[in-house]
Amino acid sequence: MAQYRIKMNIQEIRNRYAKMVSTIEDDGIYDGRGTFDLYQCEKCSREKITTYADKGVTPFIIRCDCGGNMQHTKTFKSVPDYIRVFKWKRPTLEQTIKLSDGQIEHILNGGLVLDTDIYTPSSESVKKSLEKIPKFIPPLTRQQRRKMERESKKKK
Ligand SMILES: [Zn+2]
Repeated sequence: MAQYRIKMNIQEIRNRYAKMVSTIEDDGIYDGRGTFDLYQCEKCSREKITTYADKGVTPFIIRCDCGGNMQHTKTFKSVPDYIRVFKWKRPTLEQTIKLSDGQIEHILNGGLVLDTDIYTPSSESVKKSLEKIPKFIPPLTRQQRRKMERESKKKK
């Protein structure tokens, strides 16, 4: 089935972004700056602590690396220094344009994304260096080898 992507026009994104940025500080939405939120995975119970680098809207549920959902369960006033804290940030206009349509809509509605999801030249180079690492391919089993031999004979 064909999937249609309706790409928002850049000028429209630019206008809405400027308007959102100019009104967000006076907007009556919750300001989480200076607090720390705990997200817990329902599946693997991994935890993630986040804080707000900007004022904005954050999701109640985020995706865990295991594929499960992490739910916001607690809010703290402070956390010990040794804990890794992820930051909710407002991407710049340039960074916003590089996100998916759904994320762009979220940003234009005052939404924030985790710093790890924001495109930066360094995150791109990290991604590229990871792509260069060859995938481990396990050696073929005897059965697989026979199957390949049979298939190559068929082609002849
Ligand atoms: Zn998980």
